[in-house]
Amino acid sequence: MTYSYDDQNIFAKILRGEIPNKTVLETKHALAFHDIQPQAPVHVLVIPKGPYVCYDHFALHATPDEIVDFTRAVGEVCKLVGVQAGDNGDGFRLISNSGDNGVQEVPHLHVHVLGGRRLGRMLQKVG
Ligand code: AMP
Repeated sequence: MTYSYDDQNIFAKILRGEIPNKTVLETKHALAFHDIQPQAPVHVLVIPKGPYVCYDHFALHATPDEIVDFTRAVGEVCKLVGVQAGDNGDGFRLISNSGDNGVQEVPHLHVHVLGGRRLGRMLQKVG
């Protein structure tokens, strides 16, 4: 399986500082920022700084350092924006749309951290 990364995608431009973002957290290997079109009261995107197209690309090819840093960043973001599920917190949903069937729009891995209200069913019923 090969993955070709387009360095002109919008999140690559954010990482290069060419487009502004509302940063929630920056770590050595990850950046978290508010989604420009929030679909819940809390809607934060967490992206790795490395050129990974989608979740499987990252999971299969990122270094252990990158994976640990990114995963911890997601946990830190949940705490920072107050949606953590531990200690009877309200909780959140983590989504990573990947590829065509996943309806991924921006071809740089991102996870959506969604919360601040009850989010309903995970997927719409079909048919
Ligand atoms: P996806 O469909 O999973 O690829 O989601 C892409 C997400 O990126 C959408 O929720 C968009 O609202 C969000 N998005 C696109 N451009 C920006 C931007 N410049 N800053 C923050 N979020 C963005």
